Amino acid sequence: MFVASKLPQHLGQSGWVSMLPPRKPRPALSGTVNADIAVIGGGFAGLSAARRLSQLDPKLKVAVLEAGEIAQGATGRNSGFIIDLPHEVSSEDYGGSDSNERRHDIKIHRMAIALARELAEEKGWGKDIFDPCGKYNVAMGPKGDKHVVSYARQLDAIKEEYRLLDGNEIATVTGTRSFTSAIFTPGTVIIQPAAYIRGLADSFGGSVKLFENTPALSFERQGTSWRIKTPNGMVNAAKIILANNGHAQSFGLFRGVLLHVYTYASMTAAFDPKRLGGQRSWAATPAFPMGTTVRRVQGDDGDRILIRSRYTYNPRLQVSDGAIGRAGRIHDRKFEARFPTLKGLQMQYRWAGAMALTWNGVPAFGEIEPGIFAAIACNGVGATKATASGIAAAEAAMGVDSWLVKVFKGFATPKPLPPQPFLTIGATANLSVKEWSAGIE
Ligand SMILES: Cc1cc2nc3c(=O)[nH]c(=O)nc-3n(C[C@H](O)[C@H](O)[C@H](O)COP(=O)(O)OP(=O)(O)OC[C@H]3O[C@@H](n4cnc5c(N)ncnc54)[C@H](O)[C@@H]3O)c2cc1C
Repeated sequence: MFVASKLPQHLGQSGWVSMLPPRKPRPALSGTVNADIAVIGGGFAGLSAARRLSQLDPKLKVAVLEAGEIAQGATGRNSGFIIDLPHEVSSEDYGGSDSNERRHDIKIHRMAIALARELAEEKGWGKDIFDPCGKYNVAMGPKGDKHVVSYARQLDAIKEEYRLLDGNEIATVTGTRSFTSAIFTPGTVIIQPAAYIRGLADSFGGSVKLFENTPALSFERQGTSWRIKTPNGMVNAAKIILANNGHAQSFGLFRGVLLHVYTYASMTAAFDPKRLGGQRSWAATPAFPMGTTVRRVQGDDGDRILIRSRYTYNPRLQVSDGAIGRAGRIHDRKFEARFPTLKGLQMQYRWAGAMALTWNGVPAFGEIEPGIFAAIACNGVGATKATASGIAAAEAAMGVDSWLVKVFKGFATPKPLPPQPFLTIGATANLSVKEWSAGIE
């Protein structure tokens, strides 16, 4: 029997959810439900798995359990980059692997983008929710400029398209002179993450039942199937897809291999678009992987700037309001350094979100018990990696021997982490050094 020792908490008010109209969550589970497959977790991994299951067999009975409301978790509170190219946040240069592996990663990432695109077409979404506009990688000084050039060399090696921009050119996009150079890559899709995941959740009908505010408290084998207990009900299912990212560990699974890292974001109040030149909507990752992500978001009530920066290692799977406040002060400094003309504009929302990484950057994937398929360990870029892992878990659970399943089954197993207290000391020091070396970037 696997019993949850902890349930997720999502701290801080996410600007993405706050910007949307209220949504009535799907009712919590009450009573007993029988399903062919149960999915635990309603983020990118879980909902992509549910979508793929319904495509493979529209009559399949699927029960999705989400502990909170859809979009409250990391999936609805991230920066909204669905990145097609290799993007190892813990690496020095985003690459982290050889050319063949990079090409492989790109193919996986583009499969995830294909799912998102298909959903966007189905829903008729505009650019406010799904914008295939590409992204900029921006530098703020000579060190960053060098990284931009070295990233261009990596893209040459794998024959991927890009455009280099000097300080003047990137200023015409961002409306600020703070960036010294940039590289534009066209394949990234930018989403409003809360609207995206709500849309995916609300696309289910028929035989996929989603239960919100329904945490899985335990699951145990009952003959040839599994019984999941929730606060007011239970699900009997032949198979389970476990898609609750770092909280897999709360069931005692993947102990000693998941690194629980939190990152933080702040979003300004809406401002009059005339206050900042350039384009009204753009998205930029930093030249240094551990640097600061920035987005300008166009809205009906004005525009907003999103700043995402700071990583902390939190093995207990929780952060405090104090940590959000400390990250917020860093965000304020980063904002002022990038947008001096917006001086005085206040942050309206601040929040934190959880990610699960592995030491060797591989997913925690596969049939871990007979009938239990894991799609865990987003490795920081879950919009692509967790989406792909959810699709692969669905296909594996249905016995589909696809290219994606073969690739996911072929990943190395997650490498064991060093024992405590060396792990905490090492992880904290490593994040601090990397953040320090990213400097102003
Ligand atoms: C501020 C921030 C910015 C980021 N920016 C980006 C970005 O731009 N691009 C990108 O690719 N990635 C980004 N990320 C990372 C990305 O959000 C994660 O990689 C992604 O959300 C992982 O998806 P997932 O479905 O695996 O897990 P999650 O999104 O964590 O979803 C897991 C779900 O499981 C639920 N759950 C947990 N336990 C239980 C239980 N017992 N029963 C039922 N449900 C349970 C949780 O409530 C949660 O909703 C960012 C993260 C943060 C915090």
